[in-house]
Amino acid sequence: MINYKAIFFDAAGTLISTSRPVGESYALLARRYGIGVDPGELTRRFRSCFAAAPPLAFPGVPAGRIKQVERQWWKDLVRTIFEPFGSFTRFDDYFAELFEYFSRAEAWSLYPEVQDTLFSLRRRGLNVTIISNFDSRLFGILDGLGISTWVDSVVISSQAGYAKPAREIFLQALDLHQIKAEEAMHVGDSPENDASGACAAGLTGVLLDRNGNGASHSYLRVRTLTEILGVIGAR
Ligand SMILES: [Mg+2]
Repeated sequence: MINYKAIFFDAAGTLISTSRPVGESYALLARRYGIGVDPGELTRRFRSCFAAAPPLAFPGVPAGRIKQVERQWWKDLVRTIFEPFGSFTRFDDYFAELFEYFSRAEAWSLYPEVQDTLFSLRRRGLNVTIISNFDSRLFGILDGLGISTWVDSVVISSQAGYAKPAREIFLQALDLHQIKAEEAMHVGDSPENDASGACAAGLTGVLLDRNGNGASHSYLRVRTLTEILGVIGAR
């Protein structure tokens, strides 16, 4: 059994999820701007546009401009999502409100087993780090959900200059804590970005497959975060 020194986690879909389906929040707010779109359709649009969007990473952009380019990245995405539904006259105001809404902790929830799992890992002296393809709003969200104190660090793609599955973002997290790839496990809900990406960077990549519908692959698979403790022999 590998003697792990660090367990890395993805954020969205792994530790946190939106409190409501994304399309519901998009649709509710859009209605106030006179735009009526079915929430389910917006969720599907969100998923396909998000998957097709460029990586949320800005190599070469100075630190002082990152927040500005993050916001523009999201604005471009949201505009694309609404493209099939006709003209949206007050789009700028809508986007400002939407972007602000998702920066609030209330817009997000922790999965039920997160607190106990992170607590157990930390108590065993393991480094717990979040590696997320996310923007600067994540820090405030994690603070608001009370999770910041349970993690050693948070590495986000928008600041790292690389988004998962790029190996560089995994290497940055390892470097930060002087940990070797073979001493670290990364857990996340995306087969490509998390499980395969981590394996390609030399870490143990684990797929969190909450619904149990993932195809079988060479990497490890767990149904809940609690199972991680069993995998590393911590209980
Ligand atoms: Mg995820």
